[in-house]
Amino acid sequence: MARTIEPDCRQCRREGCKLFLKGERCTSKKCAMERRPVIPGQHGNSKRRVAFSEYGTQLREKQKVKRMYGVLEKQFHEYYEKAKAMQGATGENMLILIERRLDNVVYRMGIGASRKQCRQMVNHGLITVNGKRVNIPSYRVKAGDVIAIKENKQDNEIFKGLRGSKVVMPKWVEFDTNTFTGKVVALPTREDIDSDIKEQLIVELYSR
Ligand code: SF4
Repeated sequence: MARTIEPDCRQCRREGCKLFLKGERCTSKKCAMERRPVIPGQHGNSKRRVAFSEYGTQLREKQKVKRMYGVLEKQFHEYYEKAKAMQGATGENMLILIERRLDNVVYRMGIGASRKQCRQMVNHGLITVNGKRVNIPSYRVKAGDVIAIKENKQDNEIFKGLRGSKVVMPKWVEFDTNTFTGKVVALPTREDIDSDIKEQLIVELYSR
């Protein structure tokens, strides 16, 4: 599976914001964005490196979202093309399509601490959709889909702390930490997705 090899915290420092790629560490004092929020490289936050042109601003926004969801360029561009062919605002549609990825849904349900960990869970066949094992992280969920941790994997060490715990999740998903079963109650809307994403900039970049 193709993946980015750049260290997680370096990606946050590059984008100048927390992308929450490392689970619990991201909300602790150990977070690199708390300790050293400087752009990687010799010249760090020099004026030249923080002042972006219009193109630079659009590019950084796209990179930020790609990194946040852990999606590579080819697949990210495919989301844009698909969104463009749909009715409604392209940027919004694109974000909603990405939000519906199975690895993201598992993350939103609080099953894993980061999207990366959730993608691994899906890859390793720990997650089922409507009773069937699905090991494709980009699988697009539908409203009403039942997402669960595979029965014979529920005793896995990584789910130890999850049993019976309280999880805060968006209203479009639900997950019972006692039965390890959840549901996509409705499709996400733009309001359910991180508000500081400026998707219009990404649309402008791809429409150049
Ligand atoms: Fe980003 Fe998390 Fe690293 Fe902080 S700890 S810099 S939020 S990946």
